[in-house]
Amino acid sequence: MNLADGCHYCHSGEELAFLAGPPAEAPDAVVGAIAADPHDHWSGEQWEFLYRRFASRLIDLVRARRVDPGLTLRPFGPSYANLANWPVQERATTENALGDTLVGALKHWPTHELVVLLGGLACAYDDLTPWLARLDTAPAAEGDIIRLTCYWTTSLLWGDDDWFTWWHTDDPVTPVREWTAAVRPRVERFARAHPECKTARDTLTAYDHLDRGGISPWWYPGHGWTQWERRGLPGQFGWLRPSAAN
Ligand SMILES: [Zn+2]
Repeated sequence: MNLADGCHYCHSGEELAFLAGPPAEAPDAVVGAIAADPHDHWSGEQWEFLYRRFASRLIDLVRARRVDPGLTLRPFGPSYANLANWPVQERATTENALGDTLVGALKHWPTHELVVLLGGLACAYDDLTPWLARLDTAPAAEGDIIRLTCYWTTSLLWGDDDWFTWWHTDDPVTPVREWTAAVRPRVERFARAHPECKTARDTLTAYDHLDRGGISPWWYPGHGWTQWERRGLPGQFGWLRPSAAN
């Protein structure tokens, strides 16, 4: 695949030569930048060529949290590099590397970033459920599952469902709602085994309010700020501050 006569506006001649040359020699910045190219910047064949040769480099960048995981994984999707059509072995290798990245992120990433990663993964097959299934089988992950469930159940109560910036789906809510409902027994077991865990207790409270089609028992973050500003006061008016006199 000849990329050397590609667009010199988005990529310099040197970058295009790196993209077409030996994959190990391309600098991280050049590899990471492909993901940000607009959809029509490359043909389907070029997207597939680039993502197949740089898949492991791109996944490493995601793992190291050096790129936006949602943006970087989006081109595995059907209208870009189309992972679903790759040769069986190569596809399985890539899918497993992505799954391992997800399981690592479940353990070590802040929850909101884990959710961004899930949105990127959902792009691959335009489906979130296979990745949620991988979470279900992640080893020794009860506490991590509870954190994610707490995040999603409280978001559902607030009607906050714009979780996935790069996965364009008509309905992000159904797979999340079904998954959180399915893990409920795990949350209940965990809460019984760890009565000291506030996250688990809060999650049970959130389930309870979702059951009743209810309103969140918690204020939306930033609610207090807005309330003070409506009264013409600075948003941080109500904040407690340690006294310098002590
Ligand atoms: Zn261009």
